[in-house]
Amino acid sequence: MSLNMFSLEGKTAVVTGANTGLGQGICVAYAQAGANVIGVARRSCQETADKIAVFSGNFTEVIADLSDISLIPRIVEEAGKAYGRVDILVNNAGIIKRCDAADVTMEDWDSVININEKMVFFLSQAFAKTWIADGKGGKIINIASMLSYQGGIRVPAYTASKSAVMGMTKAMANEWASHNINVNAIAPGYMATNNTENLRKDGQRSEEILSRIPAGRWGTPEDIAGAAIFLASDAAAYVHGFTLAVDGGWLAR
Ligand code: NAD
Repeated sequence: MSLNMFSLEGKTAVVTGANTGLGQGICVAYAQAGANVIGVARRSCQETADKIAVFSGNFTEVIADLSDISLIPRIVEEAGKAYGRVDILVNNAGIIKRCDAADVTMEDWDSVININEKMVFFLSQAFAKTWIADGKGGKIINIASMLSYQGGIRVPAYTASKSAVMGMTKAMANEWASHNINVNAIAPGYMATNNTENLRKDGQRSEEILSRIPAGRWGTPEDIAGAAIFLASDAAAYVHGFTLAVDGGWLAR
């Protein structure tokens, strides 16, 4: 076995939600592993670009609001023009709305489901169609959550969407594995990003969460780099439909 099987040299990856947090961490890790990286985001990914420029990696951005499903053809087209064939798609962009279940509005429900669930499926479908057509396969990595396994508190739409992500990962894998397309997911534990800022500001919840993490600390964007590289690489050629938890041991308790 050679460590070269983990290399992303010569591959091109599209990462959604590339301007902050875990998406930024995955972009940097992929560029370090040799990939050309295309970040999709609503706003400029300058900070991500700067981090990658430090080691002269390849990064470009496609600006798109991922709540708008009609933009998918443009995203696929622009991504395809940047470095040639796209090999890897990471569906990372996601939002969370914290609210008592009794008070959730349909508008908030739809906005979470649209980005976290509907866009993940249809963007995956759009890239998978190109990979099925050219017969060269590809990799899809969806960002799931601890709430793909658990109910959570005050985030019912998020829980619904992330449970769907784990289910869709298996459903897509079942249909596309024979086309040499690997669909897998990463379920991050409690990571210190914008997504969990309000949680970390809430002294009691923050302490409850931290005391339950066997590793004894919140995760960082760097913590999911290894799993993200593995699932995008040739090393994961026979891994299909699996959700890999990177959670400091949270699910083991
Ligand atoms: P984050 O808020 O920093 O990142 C979310 C990203 O999604 C941002 O880059 C944001 O710009 C992008 N995004 C949101 N709405 C968008 C839209 N309409 N169009 C384009 N981009 C949009 O938080 P994060 O923790 O880095 O979250 C990344 C992913 O990881 C999300 O799917 C989140 O649910 C998931 N996740 C996070 C944690 C955690 O503890 N931080 C745990 C499990 C799963």
